[in-house]
Amino acid sequence: MTRLRVIFSRLSIRWKLAIWSSLLLCVLFLAYNGIQYFVINQWMFHQEEKAIQKNMEEIQGYFTAENGNAEEIMNSHAFINSINESHQMIRILDQQGIPILTVSEMMPEDWVKPEVSIRTTMRSSWHEEEHLLIIRSPLQTSQFTGTIEIVNNLENSDQLSNMLLAVMLAGWLGAIVISGLGGIFLSRQLLRPIQSLTDTMTNIKQKGLQERVEISNSNDELAHLSIVFNELMDQLERSFHNQKQFVEDASHELRTPISIIEGHISLLNRWGKHDPDILEESLNVSVQELGRLKGIVNELLELTRAEADPSSGYHFSAVIRDTIEYTLKNFVMLHTDFGFHQDLEPLEQAKININPNHLEQILLILLDNAIKYSAQIKEISVEGSLKHQRVYIKVTDQGIGIPQEDVPYVFQRFYRVDKSRSREQGGTGLGLAIAERLVARYDGEISITSISGRGTIVTLSFPLSR
Ligand code: ADP
Repeated sequence: MTRLRVIFSRLSIRWKLAIWSSLLLCVLFLAYNGIQYFVINQWMFHQEEKAIQKNMEEIQGYFTAENGNAEEIMNSHAFINSINESHQMIRILDQQGIPILTVSEMMPEDWVKPEVSIRTTMRSSWHEEEHLLIIRSPLQTSQFTGTIEIVNNLENSDQLSNMLLAVMLAGWLGAIVISGLGGIFLSRQLLRPIQSLTDTMTNIKQKGLQERVEISNSNDELAHLSIVFNELMDQLERSFHNQKQFVEDASHELRTPISIIEGHISLLNRWGKHDPDILEESLNVSVQELGRLKGIVNELLELTRAEADPSSGYHFSAVIRDTIEYTLKNFVMLHTDFGFHQDLEPLEQAKININPNHLEQILLILLDNAIKYSAQIKEISVEGSLKHQRVYIKVTDQGIGIPQEDVPYVFQRFYRVDKSRSREQGGTGLGLAIAERLVARYDGEISITSISGRGTIVTLSFPLSR
């Protein structure tokens, strides 16, 4: 039994489904046919009993009405013949059990021994292969006492019943085969999407993430599974691509300062170390580039932190005005050549769910950019407002601005409109990418409107804390 179970568990779902469906149908068909066969058999037997009983009553009635003696009974051959049927024998016995009249059609007399009976009895018996139904009843007239025997060969109804059984068995076997084949066909149809899923997964393993499952027109669970699988693969491919892009971008960014440092050090190594001017310059450049490297590495780290689990920041609540004022105060001290204007009245005690450190970090990135990309007019303003249950913070500068076609890309990692200017200013192209991810962590939005040569407005918005 356990061996069978092990073999069964190793079969494919297709075979399991086929076996289960045919087994179930087999049992159902067997039960149904069995009951049908039993009921029909019983009914046929009952019909035979009724017919033989009717014959008996007819004979009884006839002889009782005639009130015949033994001789008259012996001469009533014609009457008995008229009511006898094929495969049936009617026999009248005297008191000693000796047959005085026997009428038989297609049934040898010696199949059943004469037997006297003092009451009506009905029984079925066998003579070799032949199934017989025997009814015995006493015959009593004023001049005769004896027994009437009617023996009926149930050959016809037995043949019918055997035929029925054969038909049912054939039907049963046919049903098993058909249900087995049907099960295989059905499971193949049902499991086709799973097969296609398996094929796609194999292809993904061999060829890469771009493979997708073909979606069928049906609206069933397996079609949904395929859709979800494809969506998952889209997501995976996107994130894989992003990851790859990130590594490429990061190594590209790191390569520049490393190459510069390498250039200067090999210069020193070859002959520069003896020339104090070159030594001085090379060391200065190297220190500067190392600072840049450190800056990039730190910002990369910030970027990774900013992408951390979004739900982790929700337990914070900051009085936004206080945080902005605090950040600005420290910032203004470092940039005395800039004019700062602030309008935070509308915010009053407004609170948003944000870690104050993160808000400060976002503001510093925006203020830092405003400073870095300012030209002659060194004016920066920070304004706050409330609208539709949201807090808006606007950082405006009157600097060089961003060309319209570059605006959509400035949030991408390492994207810089003017690479050399950004580099000169110590920019890494990561600031806005970090800010955007931090803002998104708190259900916030960040947008930029800018006119090249006129200035830039960066707007932050966050839902008000309840
Ligand atoms: P970076 O470290 O280079 O400043 P950011 O991600 O902060 O990187 O900004 C991306 C690019 O967007 C910058 O290189 C710059 O070209 C442009 N940019 C950002 N803020 C401003 C601004 N206030 N004025 C003009 N250009 C800006």
